[in-house]
Amino acid sequence: MTNPTSSRLLGQGERGLRIHDLVKAPANTPWAKAKQQSWDAGEPATVYTTPEVLSDGTPCTAVTVILRTKGCHWWWSSGCTFCGYFNDTRDDVTNEDLHAQWQAAKDKFDGFANQQMVKVYTSGSLLEDREIPVEFQATVLQDCASIGKELVVESRCEQLTEEKLAWATSINPSFTVAIGLEAYDDEVLRFHVNKGFSTASWDRAVTNLEAFNLRVKTYLMFKPPFMNEADALDHAVRWIEAVAGRSDEISVNPMNIQRGTVIDRLHRHNEYRPPWLWSLVEMIRQAHVHVHPKGGMNGDGDQISRLIVHPTASGKIRGSHNCGACDGEVAAAIERYAVSGSLLEFEGLSCACEAQWRAEVHLERSLPVPLGVSKPRRGALLERLRSP
Ligand code: SF4
Ligand SMILES: [Zn+2]
Repeated sequence: MTNPTSSRLLGQGERGLRIHDLVKAPANTPWAKAKQQSWDAGEPATVYTTPEVLSDGTPCTAVTVILRTKGCHWWWSSGCTFCGYFNDTRDDVTNEDLHAQWQAAKDKFDGFANQQMVKVYTSGSLLEDREIPVEFQATVLQDCASIGKELVVESRCEQLTEEKLAWATSINPSFTVAIGLEAYDDEVLRFHVNKGFSTASWDRAVTNLEAFNLRVKTYLMFKPPFMNEADALDHAVRWIEAVAGRSDEISVNPMNIQRGTVIDRLHRHNEYRPPWLWSLVEMIRQAHVHVHPKGGMNGDGDQISRLIVHPTASGKIRGSHNCGACDGEVAAAIERYAVSGSLLEFEGLSCACEAQWRAEVHLERSLPVPLGVSKPRRGALLERLRSP
């Protein structure tokens, strides 16, 4: 006889867990606490260089400086479902520590003499006074303005007020603000990402950035938690279309699993598969028209925005992957597209696993399976079909 509760669609009558508690729990575990105390507050988390493109389209080298900070104020009160930045933060970082980290980064690359772009990432928002001392915000803005480097900083929406931007542009009149919007969809922001702001906040922030002639980079998340592959693909194309007109660059981050997050827990329970690389190729093919309406490539007159996709940890089980045999080749084509903006990068790519990916996406569009049918979701088929 079957279990009488097995066919319930909405749980078993117990109170549901709050997403807030699921997000917060791992940060207080002994391994997380030990890790936070293990690093030197005077050393940046990491500093590295990558090939990049300046705002006028010129190829350049960029230096990325990831600072160790107090972290993100949204994380203190709640936090996003996939964010593992708490692993790299510590609540006793001082203004002096940050200045020491900045100096160490400059020393490592000769005062950034050979890099034309500087990206400063703080596991939160550079322009948030509760996270970063105002004096240090001013140092970063001032240094990059005086040595003539294109500066990119990250921020949530609520910091980008007229008042704050007037202050920042009085020190550095031209920089790029990268906003982790993740999804241009209020339901996804609230129930899948736990983002703590809405699409209206992004609209307001971008209006302010436009008023101060600052560049806008928008991060979108491909396949947030509690979403199947087909929905991820369809949503991502729609979100790219929605933000393209107001974003100088759109950077799509395919989900990669960071330790101690809600998505990590889903992944360990075989309830989430990171995106297929084929989905990213298909997303680019479908979204290309929204950034190049006349089918051009980067640098052409029809360019509305630059679409960038970096599949972090591609080919690994915790990052976007295909069958294992074709991952390197497909990920390389996606990376090349980010630079060239040409769909020709995907010409001739093929592998037997493409048929499996196509079948999964087709099934997910045909069956009521919000969490997907891919093999890593190994629970009982009947339960999966009934999952709300
Ligand atoms: S806003 Fe950014 S840094 Fe803050 S919790 Fe969300 S993803 Fe993490
Ligand atoms: Zn393959």
